[in-house]
Amino acid sequence: MAAITLQKLNKHYGTLFHAVKDVDLEIADKEFVALVGPSGCGKSTTLRMIAGLEDITSGDIRIGNKVVNHLPPRDRDVAMVFQNYALYQHMSVYDNLAFGLRNKKTAEAEIKAAIDRAAGMLGLHDLLQRKPRQLSGGQQQRVALGRCIVRNPQVFLFDEPLSNLDAKLRAQMRIEIKRLHAEIPTTSVFVTHDQVEAMTLGDRVVIMRDGRIQQIGTPLQVYGKPSNKFVAGFIGAPAMNFIDVGVRSAAGVTSVEAEGLRLTVGPADASALAAYSGRRVILGVRPEHLMLGGGAPGLGFDARVEVVEQLGSEILLETRVGSASVTAARVPAETVIARGDQVRLSAQAGRLHFFDPETELPIS
Ligand code: ATP
Repeated sequence: MAAITLQKLNKHYGTLFHAVKDVDLEIADKEFVALVGPSGCGKSTTLRMIAGLEDITSGDIRIGNKVVNHLPPRDRDVAMVFQNYALYQHMSVYDNLAFGLRNKKTAEAEIKAAIDRAAGMLGLHDLLQRKPRQLSGGQQQRVALGRCIVRNPQVFLFDEPLSNLDAKLRAQMRIEIKRLHAEIPTTSVFVTHDQVEAMTLGDRVVIMRDGRIQQIGTPLQVYGKPSNKFVAGFIGAPAMNFIDVGVRSAAGVTSVEAEGLRLTVGPADASALAAYSGRRVILGVRPEHLMLGGGAPGLGFDARVEVVEQLGSEILLETRVGSASVTAARVPAETVIARGDQVRLSAQAGRLHFFDPETELPIS
């Protein structure tokens, strides 16, 4: 069993910089957790503290049931995959894979069996005699993964391992990592700044900002019920639209209004917004929940097209509504549309988000 528990984990760099703030996180045995957030949010520092590569300032880290706060990395039974692969350049792929086990004085026959198995899983058999410089980036990253697998650790730690790969390879490696986790389920923590990577890989996603956890949840939870405006804007691509609106309730009908926009909200949103009548709130609506055309009554508005991005499968529209810019996705690719056109957009019922402008917390 290798659950990981972080309790009130803090990291200060010097006296001035507080990089990780009171992080509490429980990762279940065999769970795959993705740690995501913008550059500098403290995700790598958190991972490096779990690995033992960075001292902790305060708090506790448990792996299995053991407090590992001050254990050196080699005694934590974790294997880490780095962005730059960290392979030994002068050694063959086989020797790179064997290195950790030889250090542990494992018998050569056992090492060979472990390498055979890992090479089979990762398609490395034909590359075993090559040196890392004779491999592509994707192949090198597979070797780095293989090196972790042969060690059969309790925990895999990934520090942005796909960042140096091109988009297509990244997508392929994502699938390989997912397949690997299905074949040898091992507790895994995967750090990335790419929310698509986090969402597609993680059983759960942990979103960090300025050293603090903002939300922990399954991909569906963080997408559907973001814990604040930051998470709402960070998760999902293209990003959620935010529009400053006023709330009006009259004759039993609640609407939210801005220049060029008046949306009638459904009963659930109306009751959530009751306390905000006459005040301003932030309306959030995802581009994929805005459709071209009439849609549900009370949810349509006119927009002027500013940019048309043809993606082949669909069109992405950048539009202007009053003073707000609004992105709409899911416009059929064959739609004849050009900059300057006036279009009718409509929001999907039940897909509106509202945030308090001061606290940025969801209004629900
Ligand atoms: P990135 O995606 O850019 O790697 P990150 O979320 O992984 O970002 P960390 O590497 O954890 O961020 O760094 C968190 C903060 O701590 C950053 O502001 C960084 O500048 C700072 N930091 C990291 N290492 C040190 C260090 N050795 N000394 C001082 N400050 C540091």
